[in-house]
Amino acid sequence: MEAARAALGLPLPRPRSCAIIQPSAIAAIRQIEPGARKGPLYRAATTPFDDENPAQALSALLTLTCELTTSARAALFELDEAEAGFSPRLATGASVADLGRLSLTADHPVLKQVFKKRQATTTDGSRGSLGLPLAPGTVACAPCLTAGKTVGLLFVGTDNAKSYSPETLQTLEILAGRAGDVLTSARQSAAHGYLLTKLTLLYQATHAITGTRDRQEAVRQTASHLLRATTADLCEFQVLDDGEGLTTRFRHQLGKGIQPSLVALITERGPDYPVNRQVLHELKPATVNLSPPLGSSRDQDLLQGEGFQSATVFPLAARNQALGIVRLIYTQAGRRINEQELELAQAIINVGAVGLQDAIHLETADARSTQLQTLAEIGREMTSTLELEAALENAMRHAQRLLQVEACVLFLLDEQRQELVLKASGGAQPRIRGVAIHLEEGIAGWVARNRQPLIVNDVRSNPLYHSSIDGQTGLLTTSVLCVPLETRGEVLGVIEAINHPRGVFTEADQQMLASVSSWAGIALDNANLFRRVAEERSRLETTLVETADAVVLTDRTGHIILVNQAASQAFRINAELAVGRLASEIFIGHPLGDLLTDQDIAFPTNLEITTPIDRVLYATVSDVTDVGRVAVMQDITALKQIDRMRSQLLGTAAHDLKNPLNAIRLGADLLNDAPLSDQQRKALNMMQRATDSMTNLITGLLETIRVESTANITFQPTQINDLIRHAIEDLRPLSDARSHNILYEAPEESLLIMGDPGRLNSVMTNLLSNAIKFTDRGGKILVGVRWDDDQVIVSVKDNGPGIPADEIPRVFEHLFRGRATVRDPNNPVEGTGLGLALAKTVIEQHGGSIWVESTEPAGSTFFFSLPRELTPKTGSLRKSKEVREKMKK
Ligand code: ADP
Repeated sequence: MEAARAALGLPLPRPRSCAIIQPSAIAAIRQIEPGARKGPLYRAATTPFDDENPAQALSALLTLTCELTTSARAALFELDEAEAGFSPRLATGASVADLGRLSLTADHPVLKQVFKKRQATTTDGSRGSLGLPLAPGTVACAPCLTAGKTVGLLFVGTDNAKSYSPETLQTLEILAGRAGDVLTSARQSAAHGYLLTKLTLLYQATHAITGTRDRQEAVRQTASHLLRATTADLCEFQVLDDGEGLTTRFRHQLGKGIQPSLVALITERGPDYPVNRQVLHELKPATVNLSPPLGSSRDQDLLQGEGFQSATVFPLAARNQALGIVRLIYTQAGRRINEQELELAQAIINVGAVGLQDAIHLETADARSTQLQTLAEIGREMTSTLELEAALENAMRHAQRLLQVEACVLFLLDEQRQELVLKASGGAQPRIRGVAIHLEEGIAGWVARNRQPLIVNDVRSNPLYHSSIDGQTGLLTTSVLCVPLETRGEVLGVIEAINHPRGVFTEADQQMLASVSSWAGIALDNANLFRRVAEERSRLETTLVETADAVVLTDRTGHIILVNQAASQAFRINAELAVGRLASEIFIGHPLGDLLTDQDIAFPTNLEITTPIDRVLYATVSDVTDVGRVAVMQDITALKQIDRMRSQLLGTAAHDLKNPLNAIRLGADLLNDAPLSDQQRKALNMMQRATDSMTNLITGLLETIRVESTANITFQPTQINDLIRHAIEDLRPLSDARSHNILYEAPEESLLIMGDPGRLNSVMTNLLSNAIKFTDRGGKILVGVRWDDDQVIVSVKDNGPGIPADEIPRVFEHLFRGRATVRDPNNPVEGTGLGLALAKTVIEQHGGSIWVESTEPAGSTFFFSLPRELTPKTGSLRKSKEVREKMKK
């Protein structure tokens, strides 16, 4: 275009404005004499118009038209959008409103000419101008041609009777052509502008909506952009609640100012428009309109009922999932959505739906994570504290916040009174604590009795509701969620959430409260358990402390846990100071210290110990699983004293009896040589045997007393081998006299043990002499010895009469004599019944044991075992300690 102007030597237009010159105008310009280049034709073709501002350009063009065609009036008609006719756009010297619309098929000779020949035409007297715009008077009309299409009509009118000259008509044609260009470019720029606006709005909407994190904000942003992008008066969202079938309805109204503001957020159930369901089903928008009528009559009735003129319903769907609907509402008559708005609105709604869905997901995830966090918190608090009341109180506070309810309360069951007693509350006044409900009463009672959760969203109309309970708690209950509080299948109470903010409790709320209830159950269980353990412990402690026996308890590392009263007195220990210290530090140099701390001691161990205040205690030291060791010590000082007195008495009596007996025996022996009758000699023999037997008994008793006393016991390294050989040698004459054969095969290995040789010798002698005296003449006596782990086992086997089974358990009793002694009534086997009892005492003093295996008439085998190392079962530890020292040397 600029090249064309340069070729013509025309001045270039100012920037940002342009003169639109048609080829016909350029041809016309070429014919204009250079001298006439300031004429109307030239000006019509070259006068510049501001094409950035179509309204101004057209207005300037009409003014120029009047001037160049010397007309009183001018008017511009524009082809309407439907291309069915021309509508007045602008007029000078006339009112646009008076001009009326022109049909394409208008039956007017001038117009017909203009449409057909596509050139300017003027009226004259003969043709008349009536029926044309700007009539009466002379009227000329030129088509506004752009790219061969008539996009408008330019009329001029004058009151002159004379027709317009061909030159003027030519000028008019040029001006009409330029008007056509302006109209076309205005249309194009309007279309571009709209597209741009649309893209901008869509971009802004996308940006704003996708940035939101909660659903209300997503809805608000979508609504706000919808109202900016369309001419709708109201925008309504009906978002379906997840799974509940409830409809939350948001209504947004925006002021139509530059900065739209969002008002009134309401949540209610909207009228049930059939079209809404249809849109949700088909996921396609639909419009309900009053005039012209559009949509079902039911929809139209409802629309009229709401006082609206037109409403377009859009699906609010994301990723093929219907989230609800959006309505754009027009309240004024004749107004409704147009095609472009529809397209843009749906695009914004689609973005809104995605944003909403994201927000829902995010909110659900957020809420879920908050809930989980709170539940975890409750769990932690509940299980980490034994202060039950505080823990329950805290749990109720958390639950109240979690469910956003007015109050959360916990009732515990008082089984005796058959009552539910309020123990903890969150969110409610503390004064409601202590409220008691009878188990037969109310919602809480029902839940406790039936062990089932219950949701009552319309409390007032529920038969379980008791206004008296509200009276006690001071709460005005509208909705209740109540779950049982159980542990190990036992109902402990109930938890109640009171008054939901939305008035309706859901399954999800119930699950959450059930979780809280589980934690509370565990906490109660723990607290009960703890209480029971504490009671048990205190009972045990009392028993231990108050028992007459001395008790010392240590942990596994030997540190003292408890020293009871008796122990602290017996050992002169401050029990309180002793606790926590090592037993070996408290019982310094005392065997008890070692027994409680030494690692290599087999339990249980019994021993007699002497305390610093010379009390004799019989101690049993044993392992206490998971605790350590315990020494329970019985004071046997008195028993010991009695025993000592008994021995002394017996000793004195025996000793005192021995002398007169000796005198009798001596007298009897003297009588032996005297001349006696047979009868007298028989009596004398009896006397001699009786005094012998009495002397033996007394010797045995004295020996028993001696052996039972541990006072003069001396442990030393002793060769069992030598011991056996000596005993056999000592008894050889007796054995030979009865023609027995004693067999002993000494082993090659050493049989060294710790023991008292004197006492052990008496054991060996006893067993051998029994075998000799009970076995018939010419018997066989076998002595054996062997190592068995850490003990040596000695056996004495004979082929005598054997011991009857019923006597076996009794042979080690004091003074027991069996039937073997009287096998030959004329010649009874002599003895005292003290030998085996004595042997048993000695062997046990050495930490060993003695037993017999015998069958009639095969014979008997007596065994005894002795440990290699000394682990005395009785005896003063003071002594045994010395012995141990000795052994170490
Ligand atoms: P005593 O030998 O003085 O009778 P003991 O205490 O030594 O007393 O023995 C108790 C009893 O055990 C004996 O009276 C006897 O009945 C039985 N007894 C002991 N040793 C044997 C043996 N080798 N064979 C059979 N019976 C025996």
